[in-house]
Amino acid sequence: MPIATRHFDALILGAGGAGLNAALRLAGADARVAVVSKVFPTRSHTVAAQGGVNAALANVLPDNWHWHMFDTVKGSDYLGDQDAIEYMCREAIPTVYELEHAGVPFSRLDDGRIYQRAFGGQSQDFGGAQAARTCAAADRTGHAILHALYQQNLRARTHFFDEFFAIDLLRDDEGCVLGALVLEIETGEPLIIASKTTLIATGGYGQVYRTTTNAYINTGDGMAMALRVGVPLMDMEFFQFHPTGVAGKGMLITEGARGEGGYLVNARGERFMERYAPRALDLASRDVVSRAIATEVREGRGCGEQGDHVLLKLDHLGQDIVARRLPGIRDICRTFVGIDPAAEPIPVFPTAHYAMGGIPTDRHARVVAPVRHGPEEPVPGLYAAGECACVSVHGANRLGGNSLLDILVFGRAAGHDILRYLKENPNHRPITDSILAPAMARLERWQRQGDGEPVHVVKADLRKLMEDHCGVFRTEEVMAEGVEKLAALRERIEQARLHDHSRTFNTARIEALELDNLVDVGMATLRSALYRQESRGAHSRVDYPERDDQNWLRHSLYFRDGDRMDSKPVRTKPLSVDSFPPKERVY
Ligand SMILES: Cc1cc2nc3c(=O)[nH]c(=O)nc-3n(C[C@H](O)[C@H](O)[C@H](O)COP(=O)(O)OP(=O)(O)OC[C@H]3O[C@@H](n4cnc5c(N)ncnc54)[C@H](O)[C@@H]3O)c2cc1C
Repeated sequence: MPIATRHFDALILGAGGAGLNAALRLAGADARVAVVSKVFPTRSHTVAAQGGVNAALANVLPDNWHWHMFDTVKGSDYLGDQDAIEYMCREAIPTVYELEHAGVPFSRLDDGRIYQRAFGGQSQDFGGAQAARTCAAADRTGHAILHALYQQNLRARTHFFDEFFAIDLLRDDEGCVLGALVLEIETGEPLIIASKTTLIATGGYGQVYRTTTNAYINTGDGMAMALRVGVPLMDMEFFQFHPTGVAGKGMLITEGARGEGGYLVNARGERFMERYAPRALDLASRDVVSRAIATEVREGRGCGEQGDHVLLKLDHLGQDIVARRLPGIRDICRTFVGIDPAAEPIPVFPTAHYAMGGIPTDRHARVVAPVRHGPEEPVPGLYAAGECACVSVHGANRLGGNSLLDILVFGRAAGHDILRYLKENPNHRPITDSILAPAMARLERWQRQGDGEPVHVVKADLRKLMEDHCGVFRTEEVMAEGVEKLAALRERIEQARLHDHSRTFNTARIEALELDNLVDVGMATLRSALYRQESRGAHSRVDYPERDDQNWLRHSLYFRDGDRMDSKPVRTKPLSVDSFPPKERVY
C-alpha cells in the first residue's frame, strides 16, 4: 500500500522552545507549517529548564549587551563565533520583552520590572564584577516559556503532529532536503511529510550518558538524521557536565541556587571554590566548577560514606527565599533525596547536561556543510536551531541561561529565513522511491524476527561506556579504547531484536530507533574528543592540559561516512565592537 503523504511549506521537527518560536513566525506569516513531536509539545525538555534566560536588561545591577557578549566569548573559551554571539546578545533584550508580551509570568521586582538573578560566568564589566543577568520565573522558567509559546501557536493555527516520531530526512540527488519520513506512534503507520523547508529542532542527547539531567526523550535523533544525509556534526567533543546534579541520581539543581547565595563545601567543611576561582567562587563557569568538584572527590575530600560527592548549602538562605525563588528545587530534594534544602545541605556531583556541539549552522539557522571537501554552503531547504544546532554561540562551554536564549533567538531567525527561502522556492520537488528507500529500510530493519539481544541491554552498556570513556577528565588511551568498544557495540545492534512487533503504541520500536541515533552521536562525541589534542572549556585532556590556540582555535567536524574528522576556522568578525582576542581564562 502506498504511504500517505502530507504537504507543507515548512516542517519543524521538535516542539521545544526552538521549534515553537520558529513555528510562531511562520504561522503568523500564513505559511503552512507542521510541527512534529514525539511527545506532547509541552513535555519537550525545554519545560524542565529551571534557572532562567539571559538578557542585559540591567534591572538589578548595571549591565549592557557588550558585557554579555564578552562573558559569552570568555565562557566559550574563545571558540564561539563572535559574530553570532554578538547577534544573540543584542537580540536577547527584545526577545525577553517579546516573551513578556506573549504571556510569560516572570518573577518581579518590587517596582514591577522583571526579576534577574546572578548566574555563572556573569560580569558587570570586563574586569569581572558580578552581574545579575538571568531573567527568571521562579525556578520554572522553561515551563513558563514553553506553555506561553504553545498557547500562542494554537492561536496562530500551527498544525501539530503530536506523538509522531521522525525517522529520517529525505534528501534528493541535488542535495535538497524535501521533508521527512515520520511514524505515527499510536497506529504504527508511516507518513511522508513533504515540505519545501525542514527545520531540525530536536534538542540534545544527554541520554548517551548514564547520569544526566536530560529527559528520556533527549536521544540526539535530529543530529543523527543529519549525519545520515551527509551533514557533519561540529564540536561534538564539548559536552557540558553541570556541577550540581543530585549525587548518584543526576537530576539538576539549578545554578540559580548558587545565584541566590548557595555555596559548595567539601568533607572538611571548606568552601573549596576559593582555591579554584578566587573571584567568581561558586559562580565560576560550569566547566571550572565541575572539574573542581571532581578533583575534590578524586583527592579524597568528598563527602558521605563513599566520599563520592560534595555538599551544596542553601540552609543559610532561610525558608522564605527557598520557597519563593527555588520551589522546584525544594520539591526535587524532598522527592528524590528526602531532605528539605532550607534545613539541610544537598549532596551533589557533576552530571551530563548539555551539548555545545551539533549540526553546523550560520546565524540565520541555515545548515551549512562543506560540499565535497570544498567550502561550506547552505544545504538547500534545511535548517537547524536549538540544542541540536551549533551556530556556534557556546563554543567550548555554555554559560547558564544562554541556552533558552539561543533556542528563542535562533528559532526566530530560522522562521524569518524560511519565509525568505519560500519566496524564492515556491514549489515542492518530487519524492521518488529511491529517496525514500533508506528511511524505510531503517524502519523495516526492526521488524526482523528471531532471537537477539534486547535493545535496553545494549543501551545500558552504551551509557556506561560513554561515562567511563568520555567523562569530565579524558586521556588518549581511555578514549581510544572507548572508540573500539563502541564500534563493537554498534555491531551488536545489528544482532539486536525486538520481541514485540505489534504496531499500536509500540514504544519498544521507538526505543530501538532512538538507540541507532544514540550510538551515532556517541561515536561523534568520542571520535571528536580523541581528535582534539588540547584542553579547552568542557573538554579536559589530562594528557594535553593546556589550551593550544596555535593549533586548535578551530572547530571540529565529524562525518559519519568513514568516521572521518575535519576542522574549520573560527569566525571572529564581530559587527560593531572590537573583537575579543583570546587570552587566559581566569574566574
Ligand atoms: C533540567 C534542565 C534544566 C535546564 N535549565 C536551563 C536554564 O535554566 N536556562 C537555560 O538557558 N537552559 C537550561 N537548560 C537547557 C535548555 O533547557 C535546553 O537546551 C533547551 O530547552 C533545548 O530546547 P530545544 O528547543 O532545542 O529542544 P527540546 O526542548 O529538548 O525539544 C526537542 C523537541 O524535539 C522533539 N523530538 C526529538 N526527537 C524527535 C523525533 N525523532 N521525532 C519527533 N520529535 C522529536 C521532542 O519531542 C521535543 O518536542 C536546561 C536543561 C535541562 C535538561
